[in-house]
Amino acid sequence: MTATRTPGVPVVEDGVLVSTSPATGDEVGRFPVASAAEVDAAVARARTASSWWASLGFDGRRERLLRYRSLLANRLAELADLVHREGGKPAAEAVVEVTAAIDHVAWAARHARRVLGPRRVRGSLLVAEHAAYLEYQPYGVIGVIGPWNYPVFTPMGSIAYALAAGNAVVFKPSEYTPAVGQWLVDRFAEVVPEQPVLQIVHGTGEVGGALCRSGVGKLAFTGSTATGKKVMAACAETLTPVLVECGGKDAMIVEADADLDAAVSACLWGGMTNAGQTCIGIERVYVAERVYDDFLGKLVERAAKLTVSDGEDADFGPITMPGQIDVIRRHIDDAIARGGRAVLGGPDAVQPPYVKPTILVDVPEDSVAVREETFGPTLTVTRVRDGDEAVERANASVYGLGGSVFSRSRGMELARRLRSGMTAVNGALSFAGVPSLPFGGIGDSGFGRIHGEDGLREFARAKAITRRRMPSPLPAMSFDRSPKAVAMIARAVRLVHGRSR
Ligand code: NAD
Repeated sequence: MTATRTPGVPVVEDGVLVSTSPATGDEVGRFPVASAAEVDAAVARARTASSWWASLGFDGRRERLLRYRSLLANRLAELADLVHREGGKPAAEAVVEVTAAIDHVAWAARHARRVLGPRRVRGSLLVAEHAAYLEYQPYGVIGVIGPWNYPVFTPMGSIAYALAAGNAVVFKPSEYTPAVGQWLVDRFAEVVPEQPVLQIVHGTGEVGGALCRSGVGKLAFTGSTATGKKVMAACAETLTPVLVECGGKDAMIVEADADLDAAVSACLWGGMTNAGQTCIGIERVYVAERVYDDFLGKLVERAAKLTVSDGEDADFGPITMPGQIDVIRRHIDDAIARGGRAVLGGPDAVQPPYVKPTILVDVPEDSVAVREETFGPTLTVTRVRDGDEAVERANASVYGLGGSVFSRSRGMELARRLRSGMTAVNGALSFAGVPSLPFGGIGDSGFGRIHGEDGLREFARAKAITRRRMPSPLPAMSFDRSPKAVAMIARAVRLVHGRSR
């Protein structure tokens, strides 16, 4: 049976997932959909592979992961072309995405021993006869469920760190980008051919649900908030721990003392790169009234010059998931129906599969264009008194993923006050390109962290060990203790902790 195809919409034909380009409708690849039993079998294989992988130790894994990152670097153009064909983003944009992912693989490989390696830690007065040790042990198998918008960078933020921590991974890529997922897994098998340390299972949400219920040690999910809640509910059945990276409604704050040209440039890129289909994309802009007109004029002038097509020189391409076009249209229509104005673009900018740059002003704060994730090349620009009012408005959101502040004198202060997991000062999205920084949100944007030291610890269990190293001078945690020992302990605790400073 052949289902009717809409460009970019994945279809399942006779148990095979067919992936097509959102711009041209050309077929990109076919992949067998995994049954629940096949997901379980993959996890069982991964469990065996994880013991072998863990036995390589930090150095063995580091060497393999660094070889993987070299392979990715040497075949970057091939991967960028596939990302372009399957997801629609310009190949140049895909090069930036893959480069960031490669940096993460290298960082996780190089720092896993330092962050997770066994170490001796300070003992204590109460059990002075024991030495204390801390180590971080892998979970065994990590299930990774990914989205389509950054099909390399996003899942790799979990996969690379999970592997470096000593786990095997079973990866369920988005049904919109299975070919990119398959490519990443096949290339890993070239550098690690001995065991299925990184496996892939294809399919829609049902297959993701099966992975949640498969008995993995931990599930790392990246996608929408609505799906994140379903993933948590499924994982709750078996008390499987979860890492949940969800959507956002990130704000940019432009203070009166900002470098306006730099702010405009960052705002455009932060809001419209990848056609606005970026979890940490700027969607709301709050501008101090003293510079509002200047900023808006420059923003509209530059945004009008952005090129949108499937061509090589385009600034951004089509909307990857055709269904998202309805969401974008609804947000624009609602903003205008409620008194907002489109100073660029607007309803006519929606030309499937493309949406042209759209800048909305005077949009009420309680409209969907300000409250819900739009995931399109649209920005709401709002006049505020100053940075303080901007922070207040920016924080009045259920989301809290990233954000940006432009100010010469108050950047760090305002950044700290933004209710979000990450903030760029005098830039946009820059934190995503720094492997040593943690990445993740608060509120409806999820919880847990990928990247950096926190990202490595996310994929390991802290294990505490004490080892008796000598006979106890003063047995306290024992029925062998004497009244004299208790008196000495009480005296010692006064000596050590009795002072107020
Ligand atoms: P989505 O929630 O529709 O799908 C994400 C993944 O979950 C897909 O692989 C999908 O097949 C799977 N899935 C769907 N239903 C499931 C279920 N019931 N159980 C288990 N898995 C299920 O999201 P999307 O449209 O692919 O991605 C876009 C969203 O992802 C946006 O909201 C974006 O902000 C967010 N995102 C967040 C980050 C981040 O790091 N915070 C990064 C990229 C994207």
